[in-house]
Amino acid sequence: MTASVHPTFTPRLLSVRDEVPGVRVFRFASPPAFAFVPGQFLMFHFADDPKTWRAYSLCSAPGCAAEYFEVAVGMVGAFSERLGRLTPDAEAGLCARGPFGRWTYDGSAEHAVLVSGGTGITPFRAMVLLKAGGGAAGRLTVCCSARTPELLLFRSEYADWQKAGAGVVARITRPDESTRRWKGPVGRWTAPDIAAIAADPAAVYYLCGPNKMVADLREGLQAAGTPPENVRTEKWGDYSDLF
Ligand SMILES: Cc1cc2nc3c(=O)[nH]c(=O)nc-3n(C[C@H](O)[C@H](O)[C@H](O)COP(=O)(O)OP(=O)(O)OC[C@H]3O[C@@H](n4cnc5c(N)ncnc54)[C@H](O)[C@@H]3O)c2cc1C
Repeated sequence: MTASVHPTFTPRLLSVRDEVPGVRVFRFASPPAFAFVPGQFLMFHFADDPKTWRAYSLCSAPGCAAEYFEVAVGMVGAFSERLGRLTPDAEAGLCARGPFGRWTYDGSAEHAVLVSGGTGITPFRAMVLLKAGGGAAGRLTVCCSARTPELLLFRSEYADWQKAGAGVVARITRPDESTRRWKGPVGRWTAPDIAAIAADPAAVYYLCGPNKMVADLREGLQAAGTPPENVRTEKWGDYSDLF
């Protein structure tokens, strides 16, 4: 019998912080010889409930994977809320397996345009950090969105991302009285918006977030002539109403 290439391990939580209201970033110590490609995810479960698994995308720098990895999790349901109650070094029975996934970015695309809704930005952070660490030669443009400015994930890092050569354009999808100081674009991303920002018929699009957002953008980009192989999608669930 051969050993599994994805053995289950017990991740040790090093730290946890609130990135924005309702989204927590967990940093875990890596198991031996851990490595991943941006876009990949881990599967987590609790030992007392082995049938309930959830996927979380790796959002930290691939170059730090030998030491630690991070996931950013929206507190939206039973599993994520149980994760959200974890504290460093407490015995919690959390188990993990991976990394999995072929929706990856290795830096070889000449221009990748990364489009997200809400927590869908998390794998894109790993892609940008690959570039910041010198591991990606291609051009990157991040097109992210959140309901309000205070819910934009990793906003404090945008300046560093730009210094590393990644463009960032953020949109607010639920402008209201409380967001009147927001000067950026508003409304959900549409295919013409992102094609105009890309301004590059050869761009490769990575789309990540709620199913409907991803499906609509894919359809719109392809209808406008983007080759299907240049539209790479990752659907996380049926929660478009939250955006
Ligand atoms: C490949 C992959 C990678 C993923 N990576 C991440 C990640 O990095 N961070 C993350 O927060 N989630 C991620 N998800 C979603 C995650 O796996 C769970 O579906 C999510 O945490 C909900 O699980 P739950 O048990 O807490 O709530 P559930 O009871 O399963 O779901 C509650 C509701 O929340 C919706 N929902 C699911 N995901 C989200 C979300 N991200 N934001 C808002 N609503 C959501 C569900 O569709 C459902 O309507 C990923 C999913 C996939 C398939």
